[in-house]
Amino acid sequence: MSQFPKDDPSLAGPGLDGSAMDGGVKEASAEAGPATTTKSTQLYDFAVIGGGIVGLATAMRLLAERPGSSLVVIEKEDRVAAHQTGHNSGVIHAGIYYKPGSHKAKLCKEGAVRTRQFCDEHGIPYRNTGKLIVATNEAELERMNALYERALINELDVEKIDEAELKRREPNITGIGAIWLTSTGIVDYKAVCRTMAEVIERAGGTIRLGTKVTDITESLSEVRIDVESTDGGGRHSAATHGGQTLYAKQLVVCGGIQADRLAQMAGIDVDFQMVPFRGEYYRLDPKHNDIVDTLIYPVPDPDLPFLGVHLTLMMDGGVTVGPNAVMGFAREGYPKWSLNRKDMADFVRFPGFWKIAKSQLKTGIVEQWNSMYKPGYLELVRKYCPQLTTADLTPEPAGIRAQAVRKDGSMVEDFLFYDTPRMLHVCNAPSPAATSAMPIGDLIADKVLARG
Ligand SMILES: Cc1cc2nc3c(=O)[nH]c(=O)nc-3n(C[C@H](O)[C@H](O)[C@H](O)COP(=O)(O)OP(=O)(O)OC[C@H]3O[C@@H](n4cnc5c(N)ncnc54)[C@H](O)[C@@H]3O)c2cc1C
Repeated sequence: MSQFPKDDPSLAGPGLDGSAMDGGVKEASAEAGPATTTKSTQLYDFAVIGGGIVGLATAMRLLAERPGSSLVVIEKEDRVAAHQTGHNSGVIHAGIYYKPGSHKAKLCKEGAVRTRQFCDEHGIPYRNTGKLIVATNEAELERMNALYERALINELDVEKIDEAELKRREPNITGIGAIWLTSTGIVDYKAVCRTMAEVIERAGGTIRLGTKVTDITESLSEVRIDVESTDGGGRHSAATHGGQTLYAKQLVVCGGIQADRLAQMAGIDVDFQMVPFRGEYYRLDPKHNDIVDTLIYPVPDPDLPFLGVHLTLMMDGGVTVGPNAVMGFAREGYPKWSLNRKDMADFVRFPGFWKIAKSQLKTGIVEQWNSMYKPGYLELVRKYCPQLTTADLTPEPAGIRAQAVRKDGSMVEDFLFYDTPRMLHVCNAPSPAATSAMPIGDLIADKVLARG
């Protein structure tokens, strides 16, 4: 297991058979598959599980560094960016929140530049909106000042403004001071991912949508990946029906909220479990589309692991409010009150779930209450935008954050990798991983390529 910023030397070793990544789909060594499985002879140089932004960015880098090699991205849904990546706030973060010198800070800053470059190269629209972090009381002002100092150390283009200047710039926003960050922007990450998929296909890679990985077995010379069709279809190469087996010399797993299950499927003994935190949004009535000129964030509450309910300008011209952070009862169930029996059974068996539920009890109850009670949710935004009323809020689809939680109930805040000679499992890719995806993809791919 490895976690940024530590480097795991085992990631830099050659493959056990010392074979080079030499491209082309080859005859695989025959291994008996289950009776219902179609025998495949495909041996890829690289397989990537997960068509979210981290998997796609990794696949792009692998093909850029090893042109002509064979690569497959395996995604169970009928489209790329179907989970976290397609249900986020769409913010290109500047990197203000992260400890100076940390990987998160560096990757975010670099990622913000690379995301814009990628958009420019491929004609994907984005906006440089900037962002205000607004303090509404003395305690927040103190924390805001600490954030400002951090922004200076992180060498971000930042300005501290007082109450009067805040009112002048944003007449509908109320606060006693704010930080203005110029380098924040917005983009549609689904559009970014669709383009990444095209880049991968143009470079000779295959995107297999509607293809669910059901088993992973590593041997000395390859990794065997059993898949089944989920009838996804879609624009990219469709999966064949029934079970099938693929082989890869190197496997990268970027399975988001299924990361623990995919690692366990591969025989890795993990000491964490993914816990879903729902991020629920509302959309403002269109008459408020011009209510602000920039993104408005509260000063983060140190008792909450996430950034707080913010006003976000969207690429479609609308404005969303959110997200909150409510523990969910289904990993991939987006409607409110979604409950998945298997997910729940896994939670109740996992000691970390009870520990985190206990440690977050107070904030959890408040978040849950505000989730059910619209006026409660509204107060979170009214503290800096007092003119809004419940009638202005229309529910918007939620997102679900994949949060790795250890058995002792602590949340994993950084990236978490588990690696074996032929596999690299990305087991925690927290926000702002959409912003940072390209440098993260480079880092993951380079570790795989360094094996030989
Ligand atoms: C509410 C919310 C708001 C956020 N806001 C921002 C933001 O504004 N800016 C920002 O930078 N970041 C934001 N983030 C964080 C960011 O979206 C995520 O960190 C990032 O999208 C993670 O990408 P991923 O590829 O690791 O995971 P995912 O996008 O979840 O992709 C994982 C993929 O793996 C696939 N998969 C899983 N199991 C299997 C299997 N067995 N077989 C085949 N495929 C499988 C899934 O279907 C899925 O498509 C936000 C996240 C949330 C939830």
